[in-house]
Amino acid sequence: MALDTEGIGKRDSRWSQAENSDFDIVIIGGGISGTSLFARMSSEGYKTLLIDKGDFSSATSQASGMMIWGGLLYMKNLDFSTVISLSRDRDNLISQCPSRIRPQYFYYFSLRHGWQVAPLIKAGLDFYRLLGGMRRGRNFIETDPSEKNILKTGQFRNPLAYEEGMLNYSDCRFVIDLIRRYDSERTIPLNYVKFNNAEFSKKDKIWRIELSDMFAQRSADITSRLIITATGPYCEHVNRIVDIRTPYKHVFSKGVYVAFRHPDSHTHPLKFEMGHKSDVQTFVPWGPVSLWGPTETRIDSLDEETFPTEDDVSFLLEQASRNLDQSFEKKDIISYRAGVRALAVPKSYHADEHPLELSRHYRIHLERKKNWIAVYGGKFTSGSTLASMVMRKVSERPPAKAGGFGLRLKAGSIGPSAD
Ligand SMILES: Cc1cc2nc3c(=O)[nH]c(=O)nc-3n(C[C@H](O)[C@H](O)[C@H](O)COP(=O)(O)OP(=O)(O)OC[C@H]3O[C@@H](n4cnc5c(N)ncnc54)[C@H](O)[C@@H]3O)c2cc1C
Repeated sequence: MALDTEGIGKRDSRWSQAENSDFDIVIIGGGISGTSLFARMSSEGYKTLLIDKGDFSSATSQASGMMIWGGLLYMKNLDFSTVISLSRDRDNLISQCPSRIRPQYFYYFSLRHGWQVAPLIKAGLDFYRLLGGMRRGRNFIETDPSEKNILKTGQFRNPLAYEEGMLNYSDCRFVIDLIRRYDSERTIPLNYVKFNNAEFSKKDKIWRIELSDMFAQRSADITSRLIITATGPYCEHVNRIVDIRTPYKHVFSKGVYVAFRHPDSHTHPLKFEMGHKSDVQTFVPWGPVSLWGPTETRIDSLDEETFPTEDDVSFLLEQASRNLDQSFEKKDIISYRAGVRALAVPKSYHADEHPLELSRHYRIHLERKKNWIAVYGGKFTSGSTLASMVMRKVSERPPAKAGGFGLRLKAGSIGPSAD
């Protein structure tokens, strides 16, 4: 932090404040998950350090579609529990962050000749709204969408309009604004800091942690009562350094968007049924561009290509040309967004399912004997609820037997105001 607006001086002073300090909580990973945790723990009064090996929000949390949504897609897998919890997360975020997230009607286009006739889709969307506690606006059929001139002629019925949430600016900006709000001498965010190693003292119940500053070739030793890994796809890498074993692992799914010039009439996020794999493609207006995508490709490891490949690009160009009233070519692409979704599965999972079949729920593993929490999976939308669930674990009473977690710190010695 402090690199973009305040210059190196501010970061240097934060580094000095962190050096040789004793923290209550160190959070590794400054994407939406780690940042939501940082905000939550900081506002509860814990002395907290947030570190990222790169820039904050530079991994998956810069690649999202920026939709704060209830998980409509997962209705098709009958994954109603994910829909209920994501809808709750969506609505909490919309009410907690009115200046950053707006309620937004999306248009859903079903294929004119598809098997799913419109009344069935309307019933599905009504059920989706019902699972979301009917907290969003009513669904309706839009008979005159402003985007009709950009759609492939004759291909679609009138769209069904349903309400979700949308980030006003961008995913990175949301994350960085949140970090900035909680940046203080006691609650310190530091980017470009590598977690080298850590050792747990069973006697003192304290982690001794070695960090290095990737900017200034210097290192620091700090201590913390709890470590949380929120490193998204890299969770296992960090856990392995200190030999933490959990019942979960990640399956990786690469997602790519391409950005085209923003058509003037494009004001709503548009969802298009693809007719296979139960997937949809989305066309999202975003400032001067409109994003088409995403892909959903399972990859076996992070050593594979995590950037857009020729196959990704031709698939997206073909899909855009099929649904929009233009034949798109590579030269029409202004930029790319690509990221890896980390999908939480049990460690014993070995099936070869399409990523869309897998749950988007987050999972939290608490290693009681070592005061270590590892976070798996999740969505941008679920960051804040994830933080509340972790908070619950942090403040829970120690079990009667010895060796319990027992953090139970005193809150409120700082108390930056909540959003
Ligand atoms: C194409 C695409 C579209 C999506 N669209 C949506 C959407 O519209 N809505 C939605 O809710 N969700 C969406 N998602 C999902 C959402 O983006 C992710 O669930 C979320 O961003 C994950 O955040 P995270 O903080 O868990 O992980 P990340 O954002 O990956 O953050 C992990 C951080 O940990 C850091 N790190 C890793 N290793 C270390 C280390 N050793 N030391 C220090 N730091 C480390 C990384 O640098 C990174 O900053 C989408 C995902 C993709 C790929």
